[in-house]
Amino acid sequence: MPTDNTTANPAIKAPIVRFAPSPNGLLHVGHARSALLNWRFAKAHDGRFLLRIEDIDITRARPEFETAIFEDLGWLGLDWAAPIRRQSEHFAEYELALGELRKLGLIYPAFLSRAETTARISEIEATGRVWSRDPDGAPHYPGEDRTLSASERAQRIAAGAPHAWRLDMQAVLDGLGSALSWSEYGFGPSGETGEIRADPGTWGDVVLARRDVPASYHLAVTLDDAIQNITDVIRGEDLFAATSVHRLLQHLLGLPAPRYHHHGLVRDETGRKLSKSDGSTSIASLRQQGASRADILVQAGIPV
Ligand code: GLU
Repeated sequence: MPTDNTTANPAIKAPIVRFAPSPNGLLHVGHARSALLNWRFAKAHDGRFLLRIEDIDITRARPEFETAIFEDLGWLGLDWAAPIRRQSEHFAEYELALGELRKLGLIYPAFLSRAETTARISEIEATGRVWSRDPDGAPHYPGEDRTLSASERAQRIAAGAPHAWRLDMQAVLDGLGSALSWSEYGFGPSGETGEIRADPGTWGDVVLARRDVPASYHLAVTLDDAIQNITDVIRGEDLFAATSVHRLLQHLLGLPAPRYHHHGLVRDETGRKLSKSDGSTSIASLRQQGASRADILVQAGIPV
């Protein structure tokens, strides 16, 4: 596991970093690792550490988990600059960005439900066609509604048909003059540092606004990093591939590109990354069992 990124780098001045948990469960040791790497980086470089609550999934976000986030981070000895940004309070900003992409003709309303999408892909694959998967293993959206006429779209929306908004990835890539890249330091999945070439096409037509919320993780995280002037995004390497989408959105929306450090994850004995649904490694339960702050740091692979 990579050690730490807190040895001051003279080239980095007054960075702004963020820890951005979703309040849909208790934080685990992996979150402690990410929060501490961000906080120590800020301290080492005379920078600022911000806390962002990523609660666009209003069906899963719960106030008690938000309270637990504050408690756990405080117990770990972290402090953060006010105000805390809560994504659910900024839907209007996400709507505006979505509107820009709509005007550019780069997004389309996608009417298939999850079950319909799965059924459609099974049909396609039954004909022997190989269907692409995204880096998370999910099949690309079939995208047949990409070609609906403007009036058909408007009619279906007016009739109340549930829909998400998806990026027309092929149209975007066709209009892209040159390849995009981002600056990575620290560790990617294969230890990469330097300029990493973005490969957003591997994601297919990503969702930018969900049926019930005018944003998706990709849209909200990219906009918020820009709005909060984040200079360095320090997060787990499980989000390395998603950075291709974020870099593309920065380009399309004219936003600055921060530097990225995708750090190694804390894994259990079987090599699997920790999950919020497995409460046994939550910071709160370890604390209740008597773990000290130093114990958590050791488990998180952070020098005490
Ligand atoms: N909200 C995301 C999570 O809890 C983190 C997003 C990010 O750091 O870009 O996994």
